[in-house]
Amino acid sequence: MSTTLIYLDEPDLNQADATVMRADAGPAGDLTIVLDQTIFYPQGGGQPTDRGRIETAGGTAEIVRVSFADGEVLHHGYHSRGRVAVGERAGLHIDPGLRREHSRLHTGGHLVMTAVDRLIGLPATKGYHFPDGPYVEFAGVVPPERRESVAEQIQAELDRLVAENSEVTWRFDSVEKLRAAGVHIPAEIPDGKPTRVVITAGYHSPCGGTHVPRLGELKGLRAKSVRFKSGRTRVSYDLG
Ligand SMILES: [Zn+2]
Repeated sequence: MSTTLIYLDEPDLNQADATVMRADAGPAGDLTIVLDQTIFYPQGGGQPTDRGRIETAGGTAEIVRVSFADGEVLHHGYHSRGRVAVGERAGLHIDPGLRREHSRLHTGGHLVMTAVDRLIGLPATKGYHFPDGPYVEFAGVVPPERRESVAEQIQAELDRLVAENSEVTWRFDSVEKLRAAGVHIPAEIPDGKPTRVVITAGYHSPCGGTHVPRLGELKGLRAKSVRFKSGRTRVSYDLG
């Protein structure tokens, strides 16, 4: 059974209801819960895990880590009251401050990709949007004659895009259609599967993460450094 991912279409939802499909408690007090649907973001795609709690009539589970396996979202944690049981209705509560921080950092990564695509046209190959040193990596390097000013150029583009405050939107489409439209799709995304693309200031990027609704929420976004190594370009950034 696969878990319905509510956060894909409603990234601002901090509370929701669901039904408990599995609740596996281990001997060491560890607990894994599977729901029919969830607002919890499972760590992946360069974005850290959500945290929060799952409450039923019979118990409360503190959720410290969320992962994704075979279509299911696994909520890992421990009981702080009673027992969460299969079949119960559950109230889901994510940590809203943490979600907002992760969404800002992650959308900041999209904007770095947008700026680099416009200025230099390099495809992004890796994103790390964790608070302890976020960066985006690109295939290819900036020509030597442009290297000295490239950090300032990226910064100016980021400032302009944040000031424009355009809306972050998304749509689902087939990999084939997206490739035909010129969207860079990483090789690991299988053909024939609907893929969500997230659009920031006209730039399309396949993504399953959570985002802020408008780019104006990224005030303070700063390109900290631009480094070149082994045919790759890495732009480190933060939110000031
Ligand atoms: Zn994203």
